[in-house]
Amino acid sequence: MSKPKKNKIFVLALDGTPFSFLQKMIASGKMPHLAQLAKKGDFRRMESVVPPVSSVAWASFLTGKKPQQHGILSFTERNPATMDWYTPDAKQLKCKTLPEILSERGKRVFIMNVPATYPPKKINGVSICGFLGNDLLKGTYPAGEGKILQKKGYRIDADTSLAKSDFPAFLQDLKSVLEKRIEIMWHYFNQEKWDFFMAHIMETDRLHHFTWEFMATGNAHFVELYDRFYGRLDKLIGEIIKKIDDNTALMLLSDHGFTTLKKEVYLNNWLWQNNYLRFTKPIPQSLHDIHPESKAYALYPGRIFINLKGREKNGRVEQGGEYELLRTEIKNRLLELREPGAHERIINKVFLWEDLYGRAPLDFADKHSFSDYADLIAIAQEGNDLKGVLWNKDLFAKTVFNGMHTFDDAFVLLNGGVFSKENLAIPDLAPDILKIVQ
Ligand SMILES: [Zn+2]
Repeated sequence: MSKPKKNKIFVLALDGTPFSFLQKMIASGKMPHLAQLAKKGDFRRMESVVPPVSSVAWASFLTGKKPQQHGILSFTERNPATMDWYTPDAKQLKCKTLPEILSERGKRVFIMNVPATYPPKKINGVSICGFLGNDLLKGTYPAGEGKILQKKGYRIDADTSLAKSDFPAFLQDLKSVLEKRIEIMWHYFNQEKWDFFMAHIMETDRLHHFTWEFMATGNAHFVELYDRFYGRLDKLIGEIIKKIDDNTALMLLSDHGFTTLKKEVYLNNWLWQNNYLRFTKPIPQSLHDIHPESKAYALYPGRIFINLKGREKNGRVEQGGEYELLRTEIKNRLLELREPGAHERIINKVFLWEDLYGRAPLDFADKHSFSDYADLIAIAQEGNDLKGVLWNKDLFAKTVFNGMHTFDDAFVLLNGGVFSKENLAIPDLAPDILKIVQ
């Protein structure tokens, strides 16, 4: 008998779960359902995007495009004309998303908690916003769902501020947000008709940011915590396997990997120490407090903007020769950055924007994209987190965060479909999903 053809898909997203970590969990028998799925399906390491930030990577998943094509380039942006900060969200997306494309094809869609889905798009189905959406009442399509969800005690995210003040309360909050998310997911699973069903778990990323180092260095208490947390997710995977029908493919994926955060590196402090950046106040609060004589400033993560005449509000660096010389100088000096007395470099690579995004005529014609591109994009050696905070009294610090994102250790697992590429990156998945949901 031939296998039934898959024409629907269930996607479970585990934010920031590394391929290498899941391999270990499988090998040690701690995630039996995942192991069963990995054996039957195609389980692979996958690349994220640069920078490997959740909103940028999930926008690439949703659109099947690279960041310079879909328009969300990082977590924070500035409008160079006003020097106001803003956080890019679904309004910035320049391409259609999977739920929109499938809706246009008459398919039914359910999507829940995926970053970069706020504000929600009009689709043939239900959309519940994820990270970057901070108002559930405005975060759903149809609009009325938000109120119902709020009444049921559903939340977009756990309270991460608790991690700094009361760690046991933070863990408790993570668990209750996760349990409620799973409960609501099954509610829609049972109630909705769908061809594409996607649920996103953010709690993995939240756990990792505050505890990864403890787990990775073998602290028994935290190893056990991860075993329990991922054991709960494995149980969920088992339930999904049991409940989906023979026509449904199953995809699991993450958007980036994770590693131990060795130290935070405050690039604006480095620019200030090296006389590229000055402020009009002793402790600057916003980009408005940058002195007009400044030559450069940084935004998270590792994105350096030249204070360019004709682009930035108080731009002073001339376009052309002065701009190119300054870029080269900052690039070369950053590559030599080390902690005092240390041999190892902090920065692994520095891209010029055209190295990363390409000088495609389309990009140039689109003035908006061009002005959003950082002039230099620094990539740190693993474990160094390049912060964008405007003011920090020290260049290096270690805070409550002890895990950080990585580019090359995301994962994807597909059961009931085929990948069209050998080496996968997160923008490659949408076309394969569109081939399944016919
Ligand atoms: Zn994260």
